Amino acid sequence: MKGIVYNIQRMSTKDGPGLRTTVFLKGCPLHCPWCSNPESQSFKPQLMVFTNLCVACGACAAVCPNDAVEQDENGKYNRDLAKCTNCGECARVCPSKAREMSGEYMTVEEVMKVVDSDSLFYSNSDGGVTFGGGEPTAAGDFLLELMDASIRRGYHICLDTCGVCSHEMFARVLPRVDMFLFDCKHMDPEEHKRLTGRDNRIILENLATALDSKKDVHIRIPLMPGINDTEKNIAAMAEFLHAHGKHEVDVLPCHTFGLSKYGALKLPAPTMVPYKPEELAVALERFAKHNLKVEIIK
Ligand code: SF4
Ligand code: SF4
Repeated sequence: MKGIVYNIQRMSTKDGPGLRTTVFLKGCPLHCPWCSNPESQSFKPQLMVFTNLCVACGACAAVCPNDAVEQDENGKYNRDLAKCTNCGECARVCPSKAREMSGEYMTVEEVMKVVDSDSLFYSNSDGGVTFGGGEPTAAGDFLLELMDASIRRGYHICLDTCGVCSHEMFARVLPRVDMFLFDCKHMDPEEHKRLTGRDNRIILENLATALDSKKDVHIRIPLMPGINDTEKNIAAMAEFLHAHGKHEVDVLPCHTFGLSKYGALKLPAPTMVPYKPEELAVALERFAKHNLKVEIIK
């Protein structure tokens, strides 16, 4: 069995306790306008072109089988989205890493070979392996097999999820997970649908299941100015979380780290502006007002 992986990050310290290897599975049913990894959304390999790195050697144009390479007004070599099939030929010959393929089909054994290479660090730091995305549950059996391989090795497993999967899939995932990093984006179903393309009904049902299971669940809120930091939304989050015994959240304030990737994929860039410190302080006060203890994740 193969799945599509777009990154394996070793020595991660932000995706759960201790030192971890995070396996990022490509593809997500949601399309959040603030996504900092837009290459994670498609379920297929994609070419990314970082024209700032292009040295205009022309090697990509020489090998492209689809006449899809085109020069921009600055003489940098990009691609015509209408003609490009994401075959990856140009990325193989680019000498400056201006062209990179995002997404590689890998077997469970190939992924675990990378994960295993840092196993000593996991045991020495109480770390382990984290599966993220995209949305990792969308990988179905590939995710379950990766988890089973990790369980056989005794690794602590974190799942970084937005919770959008069937109840059946969630029930299969739940017993395999030691810790959830569970996204909570917006409480209003219509607003959630407008923002991400899907309403939040099944997400909140799966979140309730995770919280009620007494598993270790860390709530992660990507906080976006004027979008989900309103009094009304934070009050609704607090009411839901308190009802399931949760009183702490991790907050990830809006940032612009992923902007260059939008350009590399020829996608329109998000228009959100990061918080000024005083604006963030006001938003965070709303969590305190509703008895939610906040940890800021940067
Ligand atoms: S990925 Fe393939 S089709 Fe697209 S520009 Fe490169 S060589 Fe051409
Ligand atoms: S192969 Fe790379 S460096 Fe050369 S023209 Fe193409 S994108 Fe630029």
